[in-house]
Amino acid sequence: MLVWIRCLLMGLLIIMPYVDSLSQGKRKSKKEYFYDKKTIEKYKYTSAHHVQDMDLPRIETKKAKNIILLIGDGMGSSQIYAGMVANKGKLYLEYFPSVGFIKTHSANDLITDSAAGATAFATGNKTNNGMIGVTPDNQPMVTILEMAEEKGLSTGLVATSTITHATPACFISHEFSRHYYEQIAADFVRNGIDVFIGGGRSHFSNRLDRLNLLDILKENNYTLIDTLIDLDVIHGDKIAGLLWYNSPPSIMDGRGDMLPLASTKAINVLSKNSNGFFLMVEGSQIDWGNHQNNILYQTEEMLDFDKVIGRILEFAATDRETLVIVTSDHETGGLAISGGNIKKGIVHADYTTNGHTADLIPVFAYGPSAELFQGIFDNTEIFHKMIKAFDWDGSEQ
Ligand code: MG
Ligand code: ZN
Repeated sequence: MLVWIRCLLMGLLIIMPYVDSLSQGKRKSKKEYFYDKKTIEKYKYTSAHHVQDMDLPRIETKKAKNIILLIGDGMGSSQIYAGMVANKGKLYLEYFPSVGFIKTHSANDLITDSAAGATAFATGNKTNNGMIGVTPDNQPMVTILEMAEEKGLSTGLVATSTITHATPACFISHEFSRHYYEQIAADFVRNGIDVFIGGGRSHFSNRLDRLNLLDILKENNYTLIDTLIDLDVIHGDKIAGLLWYNSPPSIMDGRGDMLPLASTKAINVLSKNSNGFFLMVEGSQIDWGNHQNNILYQTEEMLDFDKVIGRILEFAATDRETLVIVTSDHETGGLAISGGNIKKGIVHADYTTNGHTADLIPVFAYGPSAELFQGIFDNTEIFHKMIKAFDWDGSEQ
């Protein structure tokens, strides 16, 4: 009898883990939840927002006077859908009439980094990972921002990273490595850019070469702004907004409405130019949240980015001469939405990597020539399509 009981117990012990995994129907993996009670108590702030009804007018004209390029770093379709579910089913992104996909590989790898990704958008050419606005053999390539300056348009860069970080840097700088932050800061001072807002004041003021670039910016008629509060109240025709000494904090750590405020500020300044403007706005930290495989971090950043998209669409709907493009350099984390609840705004996440992936990336467009951004094409085409929309290739004449 005892032997039988012992055998039965042994058998149960052996079989139990399998019963457990069968009942779950899948492998055990790390899951996190968005908006549970504990999370709400801990952070007391969320970028979740009410998406207002929008009736975007159809724009029939082909030529764009202004282009606003929004880059959600690390934002693949799972990142977008996580935001959509967390926001209880709706994002401003859904209003875009034109949707396409880009292939994001860099010159030397199927999986791009942000430097090669943004170089493709800014110059129309692929380069090696880590390189800023240069060819794989380190020759500088002219960027769309520099072309805009040359043609008398106003230009701006806004980011939730240091302004010297890879994505914004590729539009204004030409360096062998994304890590040459101090050289990149010097490139900002050399260029005629009208508005730049982000973090990274240290790269301008605490440098190995002992130069204080902030003084040079002042001599060049920039209004320096170094706090978020001042961003609202201080005005000028050229703005150097270095709001944090190093990186801006995440939404969860108190960045607040910096990105919506900075984007609105940039548009207010840039739109005074009757020749038009080019503005790049980056939701930089979507990437960082996914590198950490932190679904809460990523989703708060995603929702913050969508708020900005809402404001910019509102501007474009009234202006009717502005092409708005939203895309990403690459996906980060290999994120999969493995469950959740759209009514409660809960997202279950699984990640496959701490790095980037090679996924196809969505592109959204609204405004003059928005239809150019339908279909599947290379990330370098973003540049060429912007040139066409500005009619700088003369194709509309
Ligand atoms: Mg970036
Ligand atoms: Zn990254």
